[in-house]
Amino acid sequence: MTEQDEAIRTAILTVDDDPGVSRAVARDLRRRYGERHRIVRAESASAALEALRQMKLRGDLVAVILADYRMPELNGIEFLERAMDIYPGARRVLLTAYADTGAAIDAINVVDLDYYLLKPWDPPEEKLYPVVDAMIDAWLTSDHRPVPETKVIGHHWSARSSEVREFLARNQVPYRWYASDEPEGLRLLEAAGADGHSLPVVITPDGEPLIEPTDAELAAKVGLATTPSKDFYDLVVIGGGPAGLGAAVYGASEGLRTVLVERLATGGQAGQSSRIENYLGFPDGVSGAQLTDRARRQATKFGAEVLTTRNVVGLEICGSARRVTFDDGTSIDAHTVILATGVSYRRLDAPGIEEMTGRGVYYGSALTEASACLGQDIYVVGGANSAGQAAVYLARHAKSVTILVRGPSLEKSMSYYLIKQIDDIPNITVRTCTEVISAEGDDHLERLTLRNTADGSIETVPAQMLFLFIGAAPLCDWLDGVVERDGNGFVIAGPDLGVERPRGWDLDRMPYHLETSVPGVFVAGDARSESAKRVASAVGEGALAVMLVHRYLEKR
Ligand SMILES: Cc1cc2nc3c(=O)[nH]c(=O)nc-3n(C[C@H](O)[C@H](O)[C@H](O)COP(=O)(O)OP(=O)(O)OC[C@H]3O[C@@H](n4cnc5c(N)ncnc54)[C@H](O)[C@@H]3O)c2cc1C
Repeated sequence: MTEQDEAIRTAILTVDDDPGVSRAVARDLRRRYGERHRIVRAESASAALEALRQMKLRGDLVAVILADYRMPELNGIEFLERAMDIYPGARRVLLTAYADTGAAIDAINVVDLDYYLLKPWDPPEEKLYPVVDAMIDAWLTSDHRPVPETKVIGHHWSARSSEVREFLARNQVPYRWYASDEPEGLRLLEAAGADGHSLPVVITPDGEPLIEPTDAELAAKVGLATTPSKDFYDLVVIGGGPAGLGAAVYGASEGLRTVLVERLATGGQAGQSSRIENYLGFPDGVSGAQLTDRARRQATKFGAEVLTTRNVVGLEICGSARRVTFDDGTSIDAHTVILATGVSYRRLDAPGIEEMTGRGVYYGSALTEASACLGQDIYVVGGANSAGQAAVYLARHAKSVTILVRGPSLEKSMSYYLIKQIDDIPNITVRTCTEVISAEGDDHLERLTLRNTADGSIETVPAQMLFLFIGAAPLCDWLDGVVERDGNGFVIAGPDLGVERPRGWDLDRMPYHLETSVPGVFVAGDARSESAKRVASAVGEGALAVMLVHRYLEKR
């Protein structure tokens, strides 16, 4: 926000139950301050409090509040006390008649009044403006950071609060976080009319409070597209990771009517990677969020529609059309489909892990929780690059990071460059032959029980945070009976389908390279059986799949 914008949104509020006086104060204020400040006038304490709550939700700034002393429902002192709960930094001025000077003097102690002003204030140049000028100067030198963006008020150990932060971060929606038990968090909850039991509360940039919103509600309110604009496309891409984004960029840029459908947030696994060091063209590495955000913008620039928070649960063959069904029962049709659904983290099956997920136990969400690691002793489970990258990243914030690996060393599963980096970071320790057998705590993680797989010994360690990177599985059960998959659930394509024509295949050619057992349905990236599980190969397969889509469309 520029200084000018800030001044425009900065308000001076005046409240007086006598409409004539109220108008006169507002008129005089407007004459002198109207160009740089918004003058807000109310004729009752409750209307003024409501106006302050609305401004708080919108993230507006209030520099000065002038309140009449004698008002029927709340007197000026009681009103200012309540107003302080909402805008503690605003300067407070009481307007009093001469007879009430005693009360005004008492108020200096009760509500930390900045000034009392005797009525009438004529001429304002002598009696009103010097006071208000001084109040504005005092306010300008105090801490009054504007907060025009999305605000999230939640509890640190609430699983849903953590999910909402992750969702906003992964969709590149800037937000500010407030703990529900801290003063500003409490003020925002009060302004939103929330009781603090249902958390998180999200306040949109235009001031609308959302209590425990679903991902779909959030997406709609923060401006992410969730509804398709057409009911027929040339290409539906399912999954918004590197493979899906690659397919959307090439599909749309080559003139196909393309829609990309993503269950959660674009970026996929790569979006959770703190630093990708081996992607071509980025010698200094690049954060996964940065890379995939650029890809999403590139896809939309070329005209691809990108829908978020839409979970695909069905694929049907309807003659020459391919029908994709969402979990709310709606569907879209297309000539072709690219499956780019990647893989999802495997869950750790140990007592306490499920209950503590989001309350100290996290699957991969290292980036959004990093600041919470400050000064803590934390644990990372996993021996692959994803665990190594997370450990390196978290070590910048945490007091210590312990990597727990089941096997006897990292050499087999992690890239050499990462092992070297880890060796050089003093607050990272690697514990090999170790597995987590349980997690305990009251409302959040407090202890982990570990077992040494070599000698069977058991140890309980204090721990506030555990990050799990224990491999991944494709989540494609909804494709059962539609396309052929391997024993682990990955989608089989092209030559891997074998030398015989797939069952039900009615064309006189064999499936193209990335084509599944259904003509016109392709697979790209990690969801494909025998894929390389790398960002570059996923992007490349997305592009290649589009080339094969063109071939399919030409030769139908
Ligand atoms: C922490 C971490 C670090 C990594 N670091 C590197 C690295 O340094 N270098 C490297 O080359 N690789 C790295 N990888 C691997 C790399 O990120 C993956 O190989 C790549 O993201 C695979 O891309 P994809 O598009 O095939 O699948 P994914 O990235 O898994 O994306 C699939 C997307 O599909 C969505 N989806 C799934 N099912 C549905 C559905 N039914 N409906 C709608 N949407 C759905 C998912 O929500 C997801 O967004 C890392 C992975 C992780 C987790």
